[in-house]
Amino acid sequence: MLSKLRTLGLRGIEGFGIRVEVDIARGLPTYSVVGLPDTGIRESKDRVVAAVRNSGFDFPVKRITVNLAPAEVKKTGTHFDLPIALGILAACGKVKKESAGRLETSVFIGELALDGTLRPVVGVLPMLLSLRKGGARGAVIVPRENAAEAALSGFECLAAGSLMETLDWINGAAELPVCRPGERAPSGAVPGDFCEVKSQAFAKRALEIAAAGGHNVIMIGPPGTGKSMLARRFASILPPLTDEESLEVTKIYSVIGLIKSSSLVTERPFREPHHTISDAALIGGGSNPRPGEVSLAHNGVLFLDEFTEFSRPAIECLREPLESWKVTVSRVKETVVYPARCLLVAAMNPCPCGYLGHDVRECSCTPLQVHKYRAKVSGPIMDRIDLHLQLSPIRFADWEARPAGESSRTIGERVAAAMAVQRARFKNSGAGANAFMGIRELREHCRLPAGASGLLETAMNKLGFSARSLDKMLKIARTIADLEGAPELEKRHLIEAMQYRALDKAAELVA
Ligand SMILES: [Zn+2]
Repeated sequence: MLSKLRTLGLRGIEGFGIRVEVDIARGLPTYSVVGLPDTGIRESKDRVVAAVRNSGFDFPVKRITVNLAPAEVKKTGTHFDLPIALGILAACGKVKKESAGRLETSVFIGELALDGTLRPVVGVLPMLLSLRKGGARGAVIVPRENAAEAALSGFECLAAGSLMETLDWINGAAELPVCRPGERAPSGAVPGDFCEVKSQAFAKRALEIAAAGGHNVIMIGPPGTGKSMLARRFASILPPLTDEESLEVTKIYSVIGLIKSSSLVTERPFREPHHTISDAALIGGGSNPRPGEVSLAHNGVLFLDEFTEFSRPAIECLREPLESWKVTVSRVKETVVYPARCLLVAAMNPCPCGYLGHDVRECSCTPLQVHKYRAKVSGPIMDRIDLHLQLSPIRFADWEARPAGESSRTIGERVAAAMAVQRARFKNSGAGANAFMGIRELREHCRLPAGASGLLETAMNKLGFSARSLDKMLKIARTIADLEGAPELEKRHLIEAMQYRALDKAAELVA
């Protein structure tokens, strides 16, 4: 006998529909799963056999073939257990004739424990969201522990506790509860505020510009200048996540089972991987592709402290996400794309010993050592980092004075206003933010103010700015003007922007 039912698959963070067909025929007892299943699905056999037996049924000693269609797409995950087990029971005649329609139109998701209870699975939210495209006709059944997450999809889903409960529901012998959204649990982390950072007004201003224009930042300074403290508060000046952004982030967290308390992620992500992280964990990938830190930081902030200590390959890998806001993981027979639209905040010491340019402590490095150290972060990655901040140690006078700085909220309002200006400006182009302006947009939106040529000439000829860094400066100046609501660039915007290109003046610092 043949039975057919529906489930869902996951590719990257997007779901797609899958048909499960189970055929039971006479012949030597075998059990095979076809249709590009991964090893995890092949292993489901043992779980399915035990779960069926322990639910009080005889497992058919026949030739069983399970087909997962479409056959050309790779399938991964443990959530195929439930549809496969139900398919086997249906093919053995355990589903009433009048319930056949319910079996075929419903969508089943769930991993089985050996005793037949249902275990939660990862990726429920992205899988269910794919039903929006296809249109769900029947019911959707998920494990009870995934109920709250399933409810986020906006579909009416039913929560089942075991294989037996699901079968009874199909046969109309029992009802299943509708999934309800979970309580929105307050996050444990207390978000820091910019007003807690003493002095460092220059750095705070630079981060405000970075947030407003989507510019990546690198902070260079001796230990103890508050680089980490500033970075950890960076997300607090970004506007709150929109509903759509929140859903995108939650989908990514769902895929790796990181959804806490089964509610939407509503805070901007902040990720701070250690410099010993592998390239795969930073970027995403692996034999069973998983999103990496850059994707976990999607719509938020990726902070890389001790930037020069990250492996060269890891730093090079950042190029794709920083340029295109996505990561492409290629595998045999499939390509997975993860979104990775994050702001990068990198931090490094000015030299190997850390004290170059320090007021009191002396640097013990030779110019060659400093040069080599800085060369580690040069190249294509630095091209994607617009703002370079030179941080100086906090002096006692600054510390003592402690002027009450602006709160993250006040700064955030300016940032949001500047972002709105950019959205209107780029509504017909792909740039999205000032940091992503191409040559054409740069010409159009960053016209040089009168009398600025002399300034730029000095920057180029005396300070050693390259043509490329002048372009970056113009982008930063545009964001500074947007923060003020100024329609045209003015000379003072350029002068301020020039201060955020410290590494262009590297020669001067080493001397
Ligand atoms: Zn040094």
